[in-house]
Amino acid sequence: MRKIQMVDLKGQYSRIRETVNPAIQEIIDNTAFINGPKVHDFQQHLERYLGVKHVIPCANGTDALQIAMMGLGLGPGDEVITADFTFAATVEVIALLQLTPVLVDVNEDDFNINIEAIKKAITPKTKAIVPVHLFGQCANMEAVMALAQEHDLYVIEDNAQAIGANYTYKNGKKVKAGTIGHVGATSFFPSKNLGCYGDGGAIFTNDDDLAHTIRGIVNHGMYERYHHDVVGVNSRLDSIQAAVLDAKLPHLNSYNKARQAAAIKYNEAFKEINQIITPKVSNGCETLCETCDCHVFHQYTLRLKGVDRDALARHLNENNIPCGVYYPIPLHKQKAYADERYNEADFSVTNQLTKEVISLPMHTELDDEQIEHITSTIITFING
Ligand SMILES: *Cc1c(COP(=O)(O)O)cnc(C)c1O
Repeated sequence: MRKIQMVDLKGQYSRIRETVNPAIQEIIDNTAFINGPKVHDFQQHLERYLGVKHVIPCANGTDALQIAMMGLGLGPGDEVITADFTFAATVEVIALLQLTPVLVDVNEDDFNINIEAIKKAITPKTKAIVPVHLFGQCANMEAVMALAQEHDLYVIEDNAQAIGANYTYKNGKKVKAGTIGHVGATSFFPSKNLGCYGDGGAIFTNDDDLAHTIRGIVNHGMYERYHHDVVGVNSRLDSIQAAVLDAKLPHLNSYNKARQAAAIKYNEAFKEINQIITPKVSNGCETLCETCDCHVFHQYTLRLKGVDRDALARHLNENNIPCGVYYPIPLHKQKAYADERYNEADFSVTNQLTKEVISLPMHTELDDEQIEHITSTIITFING
């Protein structure tokens, strides 16, 4: 059996090296390392793929979130609501911009931001909601957008984990994750579903004025050479990363399908195990199937009932099966983000999830033998 990895970038690379290597070599040969034509090509190809008017590439996903908030003109004191159960980047940029983070609880079944909790957290100072499409599927965007409209709020989608996923409206209309709110942000960190070979990110919007504002912000606030109209940042996607991404974008759908296929096999293996709750698929699909396009499984995350999660994680590691705990500590309990405004009773779901979740190896190169070994090792451990 091939060695099991949490993410198998090498295996994936070996299948595309014939296209990726010359694409990288071309950048080196023409030396247009920054803002080269390849960045523009990739931007256009991603716009077409997502069905969004504007993609603005930038240096990483954290910058993408920060720049989106700067572009919307959010300022000190503005309250921004986001999920307690996510990677820290989301709340970090809110705090860095001196906005006030307002963390709220999530759903226990799909791990995404809880609509009732958002409602409860809205105040006259609230300016934006940042739903995070956690582990590869959208938050309940129809409900988020309705709340935003009612209260005149911006919606910034953190789409770092769900690129390529579809969101299905109740009327059947499908759109790509990250293109529903006023602005979307994504990351091309190597392990993301569309990853480059270094850092990268992008901002999406259908709003022409906002796109123009953001294009200046990523480039030192310049709209005309050496005229600095606003305070900006330096956040660029370099041409080598754009070349890698442009070579990988045509494979994104098949990469996401490979992740879904692995998830279906995991689900099947665990379906009789009462102590394991497999991931819920929301938004249109009731159950995961071959044609499902609403969950792209950035992570495959189980909830364990009556199982010592940390002991299982140790057991897996001892058997050369990597696993992860995303995320072990609620953001509202992190030293940097703890605040006396928060009330423990409001975070019962996140507090529970951080104790019971475990994420299994998930990538495009998992084979049946590996999945069988992972699932049987887990089931044997649980059945004692
Ligand atoms: C990865 C990630 C980010 C940050 O992306 P970087 O490119 O690493 O800066 C932000 N939010 C979420 C939910 C992520 O998973």
